[in-house]
Amino acid sequence: MREIYLDNSATTRCFPETAELMNKLYLEEYGNPSSMHHKGVEAERRLTEASAILAGILKVRPANLIYTSCGTESDNLAIIGAAMAMRRSGRHLITTVIEHPAVLETMRFLEEQGFEVTYLPVDSEGQVSPQAVEAAVREDTILVSVMHTNNEIGTVQPIEEIGAAIKRRNPRTLFHVDAVQGFGKARILPKKARIDLLSVSGHKIHAAKGVGFLYIGDGCRIRPILFGGGQQKGMRSGTQNTAGIAGMALSARILYDNLEQDNDRLCRLRDLFISLVTQIPDAFINGMGAARRAPHIISLTVPGVRAEVLLHALEDKGVYVSSGSACASNRPHLSGTLSAIGLKGDQLDNTIRISLSVMNTEEDVREAAAAIAELVPFLRRYTRH
Ligand code: PLP
Repeated sequence: MREIYLDNSATTRCFPETAELMNKLYLEEYGNPSSMHHKGVEAERRLTEASAILAGILKVRPANLIYTSCGTESDNLAIIGAAMAMRRSGRHLITTVIEHPAVLETMRFLEEQGFEVTYLPVDSEGQVSPQAVEAAVREDTILVSVMHTNNEIGTVQPIEEIGAAIKRRNPRTLFHVDAVQGFGKARILPKKARIDLLSVSGHKIHAAKGVGFLYIGDGCRIRPILFGGGQQKGMRSGTQNTAGIAGMALSARILYDNLEQDNDRLCRLRDLFISLVTQIPDAFINGMGAARRAPHIISLTVPGVRAEVLLHALEDKGVYVSSGSACASNRPHLSGTLSAIGLKGDQLDNTIRISLSVMNTEEDVREAAAAIAELVPFLRRYTRH
């Protein structure tokens, strides 16, 4: 049976070039970058090359990048690190109700430590308004965290306007952006958008699991959250994942070298899929209009069909999608993002996420849409009373 993998926001398949490079590093260039001998120098050189590539994409200095184990660690380091470094100047943080648990749970942890957090609402398309952010920033606000692209519905936030609004109100307030779903799909320039901290994860961009990075802007002081051998100038102790880092940089370069063409193609595939599945009676798409939504994430509500049932029925046909957010799927709660944009009752449980990547084809999209259209009338007979 042909596999049609449409769960790329959960994770992606590694690019073959990246897997090949990582294999070489595991088998041949396996030195510890902190070692003083040739093997160490060779590994260190791989890190230097990776930082040059990633910094070039973001138009920042290589020294601004700290490697981590994943997007979750990058988010934790940014938020806890900033809170610990700045707690004498303030104890207030701002975020939105549709952030990933890597941000929301970190905020809850800080609330337990005596910090105050404001959770901003979003509109029916999942957008947070820059005016609302500006109004919420206070003299004692140390950090604002807003995601670039929402992982469940694909809403892209007006990051540049939000950055400008924050700094207008309080230039000392740090701006953190979780770009785990946006990096590799959008050109993100931290300096232009006034971003101080930016989180990225390797496995969402056709690189390995277990690697990510955090951009830390010049003049932005944060405290480390891991202590030990003092690697990465003491900002993140622990031996660097050299193969993972080199692979992440290569995957990023491949994506950014072809970004505009790939995004055009992805948008066409996304819009084709949407036009096909919205022919199903009562089915609708959540999030923003086509012109502004992310090219790769589609949230589809099919009233009368439980997401989990549809997901497994599709799996039987070789089509992989997810229900709600796959990243939080080990927790059986319903999506906070979907209720934040106004979905109610059964609609929450009747929503699947389809997420594309550059590896998908028009055939994938047509076959997946046909499989959904074929299954829905059959499944509705069993779900509707
Ligand atoms: N932030 C967002 C928006 C995500 O979508 C995810 C994972 O899906 C994460 C953070 C966590 O990234 P990681 O799986 O690398 O820890």
